[in-house]
Amino acid sequence: MATIYIVMGVSGVGKTTLGKALAKRLIIPFYDADDFHSQENKAKMAAGIPLQDQDRWPWLDSIVAQYPLWKTKGAILACSALKESYRTRLKVDQLQVKTIYLSANFSFVAQRLAARKAHFFNPDLLQSQFDTLETPKSGIVCDATLPKEAIVKHIMNAIQRDQASPLGLIGLGVMGKSLARNFANHDIPLSLYNRHVPGMEEEVALQCIRTYPELKDCKGFDDMELFVNSLALPRKIFLMVNAGPAVDAVIDSLLPYLTEGDMIMDGGNSHYLDTERRVKDLQDKGIHFVGVGVSGGEEGALKGPSIMPGGTTEAYHQVAPFLEAIAAKDAQGNACCAKVGSGGSGHFVKMIHNGIEYAEMQLIAEMYDILHFHGKISLTEIADRFDEWNKGETNSYLLEISVIILQKTEDGQPLIDVILDKAQQKGTGSWSTTAALQIGAPFDTIAQAVLARIISSQKEQRLKGQQLYNIKREEIKNIDTTILQKAYQTARMINHAIGFETLRKASAHYQWDLQLSEIARIWTNGCIIRSKTMERLIEILDGFDDNILFHESVIPQLIKGNVALKHIVQHALGAGAAIPVLSASLSYFNAMIQGDSSANMIQAQRDFFGAHTYERKDKEGVFHTDWEVSQ
Ligand code: NDP
Repeated sequence: MATIYIVMGVSGVGKTTLGKALAKRLIIPFYDADDFHSQENKAKMAAGIPLQDQDRWPWLDSIVAQYPLWKTKGAILACSALKESYRTRLKVDQLQVKTIYLSANFSFVAQRLAARKAHFFNPDLLQSQFDTLETPKSGIVCDATLPKEAIVKHIMNAIQRDQASPLGLIGLGVMGKSLARNFANHDIPLSLYNRHVPGMEEEVALQCIRTYPELKDCKGFDDMELFVNSLALPRKIFLMVNAGPAVDAVIDSLLPYLTEGDMIMDGGNSHYLDTERRVKDLQDKGIHFVGVGVSGGEEGALKGPSIMPGGTTEAYHQVAPFLEAIAAKDAQGNACCAKVGSGGSGHFVKMIHNGIEYAEMQLIAEMYDILHFHGKISLTEIADRFDEWNKGETNSYLLEISVIILQKTEDGQPLIDVILDKAQQKGTGSWSTTAALQIGAPFDTIAQAVLARIISSQKEQRLKGQQLYNIKREEIKNIDTTILQKAYQTARMINHAIGFETLRKASAHYQWDLQLSEIARIWTNGCIIRSKTMERLIEILDGFDDNILFHESVIPQLIKGNVALKHIVQHALGAGAAIPVLSASLSYFNAMIQGDSSANMIQAQRDFFGAHTYERKDKEGVFHTDWEVSQ
C-alpha cells in the first residue's frame, strides 16, 4: 500500500511548488486540497470571508473520499492543515498518511508573499494563519527557507529513512535485473541503483521498475546518497557490476555514505585476490565485504541461482535470509546457498566452478567430435544418444542443453553446423588455471579445456595447418557408445576430482576452511555444472579429506572406467582427433595411481644444469652430484 503525503504549512510557504517537485521525484500524483472545496466555500473565500471549522469538515471529508482512488499509487496533497484536528481528520486508520511540515517564520513568508506579482497580500490574514497553526508533533519537518532542491533532498532522505529497504542492489545489467526480480518475487523490496551517465544512462532503475511489475514495491535511484539513505541499518548492498575497476569505483562512491557495520556483497565474477584485498581494506573501515559467487546465468539469477558466499559467519548470518530466499533448492528443498568459507573464498569457489564447467563443456564437445567427425554419426542420432545418456549417471544440465543444441535447426539446417568454431572466454578459466598452479594444484583437465578454447580461436592457423599437412581425420567404424559413455563418465569423475582437489589445497593454503561436501550440495541445482555426479559427490565428500579418486565407492568404478577411457583415447588419438580433456584426464589418472614416476629424471637434470640438488630413495638428506666427473 502506497503512502499519501500531506504537505502542510501556512499560505505562501511553498506547499504547491514543493509538493509538485516531490510528486515528480516519487512518481506519484499531486493534488491541491483547495480543488476539493465546495462552491459555498469557494464563494466565501472569494469574498474574503475566513472559513470556519464547520466549513472545513465537509471539505476534509471530500478529500478523504478520494483516498480509495489514491491508495494504490500514493499521492502528494498540498493542504494547509494548520490544526491538529484537521490533520487527524485526514488520517485514516487503514492507510499510510504522513505529514510533511514546511516551517518558516512570519517575516520570511510575508516577504515571499509580498514579492509575488499580482498577488493580493493581506498581512492580517497571514498573521491569523500563524495564530491558528498548531505545529505537528510527528511527521517530517523541514526548513522552508532552504533552496527548493535542498528541501526536496531533505524530504526524500526522511521518507526513505522512514520506509527503509532491507536490501540494496547496484548494477541493473543482465544479471542485476534478474536478481532484482528474483528478490522481489520473494517479497524482498529493494532499493535499486544504476549509475547516471547524462544523456546515456538516466533513470535506469526507475525505468526497470516501470518495466517489471514485480518491482512495484522497489525504489529506484541514480543518486548514490539517496540510495544509501533508503536502506535499513546496518545497510546491506549487493553489487552486480562488471568485475575489476568498476567494483572499486562503486565501493569508493559508496564509502562516504556508509557507517560502521554496513555490508557490501559483490555478486560479480571478481578475482578472488581482489576480493581478499577488499575484505581487508573495508575491515579497517568497519565495513563487512562478502564475495558472493553466483552461477546460473540470466535465467538462474531470475529463477534461482546457486550462490557461493565467502566471509565471516557474522556477515553471512545477516545476509543469509536474503540470499537463501532467492537461491535454487536442492533435492531436499534446502537452499543452494551456503557460506563456503572465509575471506575471498566465495569468488575462488565460483572460479573453480567455472573451471570444472570449462572441462565439462569440452568433454561433451569431444564426444561430439568423436561421434560426428570420426564416427560419421548424424547430429540427430548423437542427440538421441546424449538424451539416452542423460537419463542415467551421466545426467547433467550441460548434456541436457547439448541435446537441444544438436536438435536446433534454422531454415531446415542444423544450426550448429553454421556456428563458427572459435570458442570465446571471459577469463575465469584462465584465472582458475593460474590460481591452481600458484598453489601447486594439478589442474590437467581444466587447463587443457582453457587451452582448447585458445587453440580453437586460432582458426586461420588451423586452416593453414590443414592445407600444409593434408592429413585427414580417420573414420572410426562402429563406435561402441556404451564404452564411449563409460569413458566420458570416467573423465568427468576425474575432472571433478581435480576441481575439488584444488579447492582442498586452496582451503589449506589460504586457511579458508572450505566445506567441500556443502559446496557439492549447493552445486546440485541452479548452477551450470549441476548433475547426478554432483549429487553423488555430496556423500563422497562428507567427512572425506582426500582425493575423490581414492574414495572407496569411486575406486571400483574407475577400475572399470579407466579401461574404457584408455580404449577411447587410444582410438580417437590414433584417428587424428584432438581430445585434450579426455587424454588429460587419463594422464592424470595414470600419474595418480603409480608410486614411481619419471620425475627422478627431472630432478637429475635440474641438478645437472643448475645444482638444484635432489633427495634420494635410499638415504635421508639433500644431495648434489658433479655429473660430468666420472666416478
Ligand atoms: P552487464 O554488462 O549486463 O551489466 C553490468 C552492470 O554494471 C551495468 O548495470 C553497468 O551499468 C554496471 N557498471 C559497469 N561499470 C560500472 C561502473 N564503473 N560504475 C557503476 N556501474 C557500472 O553485466 P552482467 O549483468 O552480465 O554481469 C555482471 C557481473 O556478474 C559480472 O561480473 C559478470 O561476470 C557476473 N556474472 C555474469 C553472469 C552472466 O551469465 N551474465 C553469471 C554470473 C556472474 P551501466 O548500465 O550504466 O553500464
